[in-house]
Amino acid sequence: MLSNLATRDVETLLHPYTNLDAHRSTGPLVLERGEGVFVYDTAGKPYIEGMSGLWCTALGYSNDELAEAARAQMGRLPFGHLFSGRSHDPAIELAEVLKGLMPVPTSKVFFTSSGSEANDTQVKLTWYYNNALGRPRKKKIIGRQRGYHGVTVATASLTGLPANHADWDLPLPGFLHTACPHHYRFAQSGESERAFSERLAGELEALILREDPETVAAFIAEPVMGAGGAIVPPEGYFEAVQAVLANYDVRFIADEVICGFGRLGTWFGSEALGARPDTISFAKAVTSGYVPLGGVSVDEPLYEAMLAESRKLGTFGHGTTYSGHPVACAVALKTIEIYRRERIVEGVAAKAPHFQARLSRLAEHDIVGEARGIGLIGGLEIVADKASRAQYEPKAGVAARCVAFAQGEGLIVRFLAGDRVAVCPPLIITEAEIDALFDRLARALDRTRDWIR
Ligand code: PLP
Repeated sequence: MLSNLATRDVETLLHPYTNLDAHRSTGPLVLERGEGVFVYDTAGKPYIEGMSGLWCTALGYSNDELAEAARAQMGRLPFGHLFSGRSHDPAIELAEVLKGLMPVPTSKVFFTSSGSEANDTQVKLTWYYNNALGRPRKKKIIGRQRGYHGVTVATASLTGLPANHADWDLPLPGFLHTACPHHYRFAQSGESERAFSERLAGELEALILREDPETVAAFIAEPVMGAGGAIVPPEGYFEAVQAVLANYDVRFIADEVICGFGRLGTWFGSEALGARPDTISFAKAVTSGYVPLGGVSVDEPLYEAMLAESRKLGTFGHGTTYSGHPVACAVALKTIEIYRRERIVEGVAAKAPHFQARLSRLAEHDIVGEARGIGLIGGLEIVADKASRAQYEPKAGVAARCVAFAQGEGLIVRFLAGDRVAVCPPLIITEAEIDALFDRLARALDRTRDWIR
């Protein structure tokens, strides 16, 4: 029997990334409030938010300073746009702060309201750039199988997940996918991480050559793949890939929507993994998820090309009503101030060894094949047979069941394709809370094993 709220939900709400049929009988988990790393449902039951919402609430819940920053900006200038040269101080100040933080040479910052819009902007800027340079054929963009970059027509095309393509008439032509850098699943027997990285770089090069380098404009990658399985790349991966990109004048877009702002114990994931992109997409933790904000860094060559187009066409014909929304920018400024003042990024680096040690221990569990992560992100894979790495039938929904058991134990984690379970708690989590999280996850795995047998 669904509660009143649940019934109203089922009757009125369409839920993203939800089995709409199953939802009619299971109903929603309705959350009411949050405090620190905990969220509470309508019956008052607490859960450790082991996913930071959707990889975003880095400062946890009920941060009064963020609420006050939003309130103050709402009272002062609740809306202001950046069209036609209009501006406001929160956007200017945030652009300055971000320009200083970016680990890549950055000339300007362009704001969006989401990660999808940020990556969509990257696609358009890539095309615009090559038109400005008189290279109208250089337009194809390479993503990766299992990569996740959003849901707009272009970013779902960049994404390499079946659910984002099947029956959506995607990907669009001109969007290609290279191999997923998941050593545990895709390395050949005995292949070292470095050898696997070299092989993948070779496959990327073969793809570029097959397509004709004169037609390939950009490559996009998350430092750690999030929605595709919380997958850490193998040793030497970005080094090998970058050498190929440089050879064929292919721009590198780092999608830092999850990894940006401390997740890996560095300000940006690129820094932790030796990636040297031309441009970065960010969103999520830039406001700790409290209000929607995303954006992209624009390097000087790209900006020069945009300037030339403005001289030719009379305007930069791109932007949304909420690009640089003042409330979002004010909250982002406060979020970054707190990250700095509370030394949040250093805190992640300090807590990561404990988090990763607890995660690795789960690899000893009977039904876990791999448990691996970096910083405060981790992914584990449930397997039917540890030795052969054989998986359960996708229809069995084993990881989904594990996540449901975790919920019963008072822990929110997320299941992903390939029977993977992701963990990505708020960056403010304490060591005792990390222990509680993994104790609960271990119990959920026990219950999953008992359910299977
Ligand atoms: N890029 C990455 C790496 C993401 O994880 C996500 C969302 O999870 C997106 C892009 C899309 O962001 P949004 O959902 O804000 O559009």
